[in-house]
This record gives sequence, structure tokens and C-alpha cells, in this order.
Amino acid sequence: MTGANKASDQKAVTVIGNYIAGKHCKASGLAGHEVFNPATGKVCAHVTYSTVDDVNQAVAKAREAFLTWSEVPPIIRARKMNRLLNLMQDHKEDLASAITTEHGKVFSDAMGEVERGIDIVEFACGIPQLLKGDFSDQVSTNMDNWTMRQPLGVVAGVTPFNFPVMVPAWMFPVAIACGNTFILKPSPTDPTPSLLMADLIQAAGFPDGVFNVLQGDKLAVEALLDHPDVEALSFVGSTPIANAVYQRGAANGKRIQALGGAKNHMVVMPDADISKAVDGLMGAAFGSAGERCMAISVAVLVADAADKVMPLLTQRAQKLCIGSGMAPESEMGPIISDAARQRISGYIDTGVEEGAQLLVDGRNHSVPGFEGGFFLGATLFDHVKSTMKIYQEEIFGPVLCCVRVDTVEQAIALINSHRFGNGVSCYTRSGGVARLFNRTIQVGMVGINVPIPVPMAWQGFGGWKKSLFGDMHAYGEEGVRFYTRQKSIMQRWPEDMADGAEFAMPVAK
Ligand code: NAD
Repeated sequence: MTGANKASDQKAVTVIGNYIAGKHCKASGLAGHEVFNPATGKVCAHVTYSTVDDVNQAVAKAREAFLTWSEVPPIIRARKMNRLLNLMQDHKEDLASAITTEHGKVFSDAMGEVERGIDIVEFACGIPQLLKGDFSDQVSTNMDNWTMRQPLGVVAGVTPFNFPVMVPAWMFPVAIACGNTFILKPSPTDPTPSLLMADLIQAAGFPDGVFNVLQGDKLAVEALLDHPDVEALSFVGSTPIANAVYQRGAANGKRIQALGGAKNHMVVMPDADISKAVDGLMGAAFGSAGERCMAISVAVLVADAADKVMPLLTQRAQKLCIGSGMAPESEMGPIISDAARQRISGYIDTGVEEGAQLLVDGRNHSVPGFEGGFFLGATLFDHVKSTMKIYQEEIFGPVLCCVRVDTVEQAIALINSHRFGNGVSCYTRSGGVARLFNRTIQVGMVGINVPIPVPMAWQGFGGWKKSLFGDMHAYGEEGVRFYTRQKSIMQRWPEDMADGAEFAMPVAK
């Protein structure tokens, strides 16, 4: 179904290419990327990279499609979106198994990812209501003033490896429902879901050119950022690249939202339900092998919460069930690549050298029957200090750093001084603590007794500080604003107009 074709070499490795104006085609770059199944460590496909010519071709087709798509009434765009909603629901398992094959996360987690992506498609079905402008009757005698929101043109999305369905779905449903045409540049690490979604979008009846996929990496992204006909670009990925993308796009006069990396803390107060806090930490630190931008990577244990949490957490981390994402008993799958596994192991070495107390060591973890897979075990550090590299940097793996503080004020000050501000959580039974935390924490997404507070489709997603460059959050009404521009219209008719030129600033009369 993906349109991916078989290469003629003896190994018959699937070659993953582009999808432009309704057609699957090979990207013309000589460079490419091996796509691995991280559970087995074997190559399962080869993705080809787009050249500047491929980018120019995709933008030209998307630009052509925009001329008619932007004129389609929003209710008709919404009906197509509704068809896509049904198709994505029917193909949830196909999408989830493609995610597990190339990313490695456990199948139930992949299903959750798909479901959260589908939520945005459902939100975008309400586009006629979302695009409704504001009307002011009689702003001056016989004159009205109203606003409307119009699509931008060709917009692009550049997405990371860790959510190959959900993060593209943060972008394209809202973008195309608003009347734009869209070019997705997915991560080359797990590119197949992008083409599965292209097929579903085509089956839903969207015209050719409304949704396009360009495989590739830096070169394709920079070509999109430099192309005069790309009006806006949404990026999700690591902070250094988010920053570079924001700078380059802004310098070219484009609208950019660039979501970056994270170091998310969970505060556990002494009055919290400790067993539920440990459940929260386990899922949020080790779910998806810690490769979530909303993963909890720091537990901030206040006063005697530490002595209650640590023994339970140690026991649970040692017993975590690690295996292939397709095995129903697995709680955590492999790491995305061997290079990432080595990077994460290097951080564990550093933590030991820095003097943190290593309670559970996930290095050298092997899964019987999957010896070639990129596995790591859960890793738990206690007595981590804010000066340590393992505290300051994003590790993006199954490593939980525990920091001990005396008061909630110290916990808040610690979190507020971190350069990232994506997500945060606080476990407590106190309304006063929760209110103080909600009001004073310098982080974009907050959970009270909720470990991973990913906002719902209609609320919008975005961090603060070095976790987001730009001013609009992804999806929700912020997404609608990002993908449209407001036009204000003032109108009157000649029979109601007085004669004579006016040289003073017009005022209501
Ligand atoms: P990445 O930054 O390596 O890659 C993201 C995208 O950028 C990919 O499509 C990649 O091909 C492209 N890219 C790579 N190098 C580039 C360059 N030099 N110039 C332009 N584009 C380039 O990120 P990743 O490893 O795929 O994903 C993990 C990162 O994403 C983590 O830092 C994680 O926190 C972050 N993330 C953030 C959010 C969020 O909402 N804030 C969500 C998911 C992931």
C-alpha cells in the first residue's frame, strides 16, 4: 500500500521515496539512509534523500494545487477531513505496526500515538467554525468592520523520529483544513508511516498536491527554508536544529514555529500518593525508552518523599519488562539506533564519573532472541546535582535522574533555572501547592498528578524557553492562527457616504 518499491539488488531492500502531487516517486539524491528495525538491528528498508530539484518540484506542485484548494469551501474541506478521520481509524493498526517496526516502541504505545494524531484530524473537521471571523456592525455610521482568516499558501513540516505519525498530525490536518497545501519532510529514521498517511489522504479524496512527502535530511530542509514559495514551516526536533531552522526561516521572512528538546521534571511532594507517583515516574521515564519530548527525565523528590520513593522505584526499574515492541508483555522496546544507544551509555558513564549514585544500570542489557537489537535497560541515578551534565543535558533515553530538595520553593527554583521548559509534573494532595506550582513554574505544559501532560487536540502544544522558538504553539486554535493570516475589512456604500475629502484621521461618527 505504501508505494514503496523493491530495489533490484539481490537483497531486495524496500526503497522508500517521495510522494509528490499524488504520485510515489524516487527521490533523486545519491545520499540516503538505511532504515533499521531496532528490535532486530537489521536493515528493513533504504530511504532516498531529496535534492534541491526534488524540493523545487514539490513546491511547484503544491503551489499549483493551492490555487484551487484554497478556493474550496471550508465545509467541503472538512468533509474530506472527516473521510480521512474514518480511514485513519480503520488503518490504526497498520500505522502502529509500521511505527513499531521502524521506531521500536511497544505496539500499545504506537496505537496510543496514532490515536493522539487522529484526535487532531478530528479537531480539523471543525474548520468552518474555527475559521469564522469576527463581525462588528456599525463601527461608524453605515460602516461595518470584520476580520477573516486566509490560508498562507505552501507550508512545510519537518518532523523527528520519535513520533512518525503523531507529530506530522500536529501539523498537516490543521494546515490543509485551513486551505494551505503541505509538504512533509519526515525523519529519515522511520519514514514509512509518512507514505502510509499519504495513501490515506489520497483515498480520502484530497486533490493531488495538497499533501506531499519529501524524504531527506538537512539539504531538503534548508531548500524548503530558502524557497520563496514556502510561506511557513513547522519544525519539531532537537534544540540546536530547531534554533538553526528558526533563524534561517526568520531571516528569509517566513513564519516559523520550531519546537525543540526538553528536560522534564516531576516533583513528588511528601503528601503525594507515593505508589501512584512511582507508577507515574515509571511510565513517564521509561515509556517509549524515554524517547519522548514529554518524557520525565528528572524526579525532584521533596523532603522525606525521597526515602519513600527511591526503594520502590529501584525495585520497579530493575523489573521492567524490556523486549521487542511487538511482544505483548514488553513495557519498553529498543532504542532507535546503535548510535543513540552508545550516546546514552556515554551519558551513564559520565553520570558515574560525576559522582551521581547509580542504583540501576541499564548498560549492556541484552534481550534473548534479539541479541542484535539496540536494547538498553532502565537506568536510575540518585543524588544527582544540578551542576552535572546528566542533569543539564537532554539524554533522550531511559535514564531517570533523581534530585533531592527540601521544599517546593526549591523544587520550583531548580526547574525554573533549567534552560528547557517543555513539560513538568507535580504529584501532591495539596491545592495550595498545586496553585503555587501552576502559577509560578516557567514551563509550557504542566500536569498536577498527571505525569505526561500532552494537551488535547483543541488546546495546543508548546514548551517555553529553549523548547520552542517562535510564538505559536502547535495545533489547536494556535495552529489555526499559525497557518492563516488575518485580514480586516471595513466596508460602506456610496449612497451612505458624505461628499468631500477628509484629511483628519477618520474616527467613528
Ligand atoms: P533532530 O533534530 O535530529 O531531527 C529532526 C528533523 O530535523 C528530522 O526531520 C531531520 O531530518 C531534520 N534535520 C536533521 N539535521 C538537520 C539540520 N542540520 N538542518 C535541518 N534539518 C535537520 O531530532 P530527532 O533526533 O529526530 O528527534 C529527537 C529530538 O526531537 C529530541 O531533542 C526531542 O526532545 C525533540 N522533540 C521535541 C518535541 C517537542 O514537541 N518539543 C517533540 C518530539 C521530539
